[in-house]
Amino acid sequence: MVEALAEARAAAEAGEVPVGAVVVVDGVVVARRGNERERTGDPTAHAEVLALRDAAAALGDRRLRDATLVVTLEPCPMCAGAAWAAQVGRIVFGAADPRAGATGSLYNVAADVRLNHTSEVTAGVGAEEAAALLTAFFASRRDGGGGASSPGGEPAGRHPGATG
Ligand SMILES: [Zn+2]
Repeated sequence: MVEALAEARAAAEAGEVPVGAVVVVDGVVVARRGNERERTGDPTAHAEVLALRDAAAALGDRRLRDATLVVTLEPCPMCAGAAWAAQVGRIVFGAADPRAGATGSLYNVAADVRLNHTSEVTAGVGAEEAAALLTAFFASRRDGGGGASSPGGEPAGRHPGATG
């Protein structure tokens, strides 16, 4: 999580909503990415999706059953879906996202036994720092930074749609 938080901080410095993700296999970080939606103009450029793509490329295997996806903010429906598609063994996240979270808050894609793959989920790891990064980011935007999306002026940490 320390490394995912570092990715989140780097994303914030680049003007992105601060969300970071790493993929770990056998205790080794095989991929690390931050949210890149603003820089790329790509609505799917969430940290988790980017990190899963990198991990699959690095490992030469689209199936990541032995991998743990570590992310600073609860995955949105798209990213929980990406973790499902990659058959990720475990998901560890920091701050819960009551507006878009799909691994426990609104949905639990990772634990839905109707799907043909489920992942173990651990919530709340490094949650305070992850949430503090989001709070600081959106506070700075309100102070005149402009630019990044905080739809409807959502309170920090509860942003949605702005998930990473
Ligand atoms: Zn996402």
